[in-house]
Amino acid sequence: MTQPFLEIDGLAKRFPGSKDELLTVFENVNFDIQKGEFVCIIGHSGCGKSTIMNVLAGLDEPTEGVVTMDGKEVSGPSLDRGVVFQNYSLLPWLTALKNVMFGVKARFPSWSKERVEEHSYEYLRMVGLTNGAEHRKPSQLSGGMRQRVSIARAFATQPKLLLLDEPFGALDALTRGTIQDELLKIWQDSGQTVFMITHDVDEAILLADRILLMSNGPFAEVAESVVIDIPRPRKRAEMIHHPAY
Ligand code: ADP
Ligand code: MG
Repeated sequence: MTQPFLEIDGLAKRFPGSKDELLTVFENVNFDIQKGEFVCIIGHSGCGKSTIMNVLAGLDEPTEGVVTMDGKEVSGPSLDRGVVFQNYSLLPWLTALKNVMFGVKARFPSWSKERVEEHSYEYLRMVGLTNGAEHRKPSQLSGGMRQRVSIARAFATQPKLLLLDEPFGALDALTRGTIQDELLKIWQDSGQTVFMITHDVDEAILLADRILLMSNGPFAEVAESVVIDIPRPRKRAEMIHHPAY
């Protein structure tokens, strides 16, 4: 049997709560992601989606359990894993192009400056950010343009796993639709594995191969995952944690 690309095994996260109690955000979370899959995770605000993503990114440690990517345990951040946050997190003193180049340079240190620039520009072109906009700084770009830059930056470093935390949450519906199309296209061309958080069910159905549903605990009461089918080709929703969702 081939090993899944990403394995999440017995994951739990607890934070210090009031008094000496620990607040369990989630526990006993198990799921696999195959190479090249586009997986969306949906659920109410505060149910622990960002916490899971931070653990997958290596930005936070689980209290229990193990995340394995390509057979190796994830510990600490790595250029193999690219992250896109809701608030863009671009470097404000660099132009759009230089923001993308910054990541590409770190990922491919042996590349010439010309190659880094050409490669970065190519990804900005894919998300429609050209005609001078590539030379503007984040403060001179609209929210949609900024998010295009952060998507271009993430894909341009060609990470094995791309993690997106509600990347379109702050955008108007029209811009969101266009960037969703662009994201889907880059992903299809790249063969990369994408794990995306959204609170928008329609968006998950539109984009994902598979949808994981997450809800407020107590997850420990749930014996096993339930799988429900969404009547779309290639789409499969898999419920983790909570039967009442
Ligand atoms: P979501 O992304 O699904 O909205 P989060 O993963 O951000 O949810 O948060 C899940 C829960 O964990 C929330 O109740 C939040 O308050 C709590 N939480 C997140 N980070 C911390 C932290 N660093 N310390 C304490 N509690 C936290
Ligand atoms: Mg969140």
